[in-house]
Amino acid sequence: MAFHSGFVCILGRPNAGKSTLLNALVGEKLAIISPKPQTTRNRIQGIIHLPKLGKRSGAQIVLVDTPGVHKPDSSLGRKMMVEVREALEACDLILLILDVTKKLAREDQFALQMAQQTMTPVFLLLNKIDLLKDKRSLLPLIAGYQSLHDFKEVIPLSALKKDGLDLLLEKVVSALPVGPAYFPEDQLTDQPARFMAAEIIREKVLLDTKEEVPHATTVVVDQFEEGPKLTRIAATIYCERDGQKAILVGKGGQMLKKIGTAARHNIERLLNSKVFLELYVKVQPGWRDSRAFVDELDWRRQLANLAVSPPPED
Ligand code: GDP
Ligand code: MG
Repeated sequence: MAFHSGFVCILGRPNAGKSTLLNALVGEKLAIISPKPQTTRNRIQGIIHLPKLGKRSGAQIVLVDTPGVHKPDSSLGRKMMVEVREALEACDLILLILDVTKKLAREDQFALQMAQQTMTPVFLLLNKIDLLKDKRSLLPLIAGYQSLHDFKEVIPLSALKKDGLDLLLEKVVSALPVGPAYFPEDQLTDQPARFMAAEIIREKVLLDTKEEVPHATTVVVDQFEEGPKLTRIAATIYCERDGQKAILVGKGGQMLKKIGTAARHNIERLLNSKVFLELYVKVQPGWRDSRAFVDELDWRRQLANLAVSPPPED
């Protein structure tokens, strides 16, 4: 049986469960997850390597997690939507994910429209079925959704409880074209460790702070040096106001310490190396509306900049 491969985009409104699904499918924590919307700001790719199994042929699925679809209201928001469009155009299959516990909202319609504007086949995933008291309520929901678009498949699942994922994988593999493995088998993501480190720090900020602070922050890794025994990382958490900085630093630096410790443990597990992490907090008023600053955050650009500087000496 021929090997199948292709790029699969996960699309859906903020909080639908895109990152949870990606992590569940890849089996590792690649995308950060939090109950707050707009946690994912960049494209994240997860790579699934599937051996041939019964009737299912061997396959490699490259998953692209997109920032939640929303109407952009800032430079950052616009940049996120450009990422979504680019990803959709280039992929073989779109997984449109809806939260079954929520009514179909404008953001879902917007996501559906984005999918419809491409020629790419779409699977509709009805997520969070673990929260449904009565599974029979799914049937009218499915019928209702099927009238919106000619979905190639409609699959109810729970990304959190990993329910329905085997069926999903089977259907995805058969929808993908015959093709080669694009990535080596031991590779799970194309994200540089440096970017992952910034995302992990941002996740701890999201988990530990409230109200406007999470959305007003971004993390830039200023230094990332992998030595034989230790990885040295220095990162800056940018926020927009002095008040936010005060919250992020906390009384006697306690909050920053808490964020730093949690992030360090996580990064150590990811890199399988001891980590020395230095964290700074800086105020950069209105960074979300500054094109130049948002462009600077782009990790591809950060990497390109790094490539021209000499490697660190050990
Ligand atoms: P994203 O914004 O679409 O990437 O959504 P996330 O993956 O970050 O998930 C948003 C929230 O929904 C998190 O609190 C998840 O734990 C929760 N969630 C995701 N999938 C499920 C699911 O299948 N069942 C339940 N009960 N919660 C889920
Ligand atoms: Mg996400």
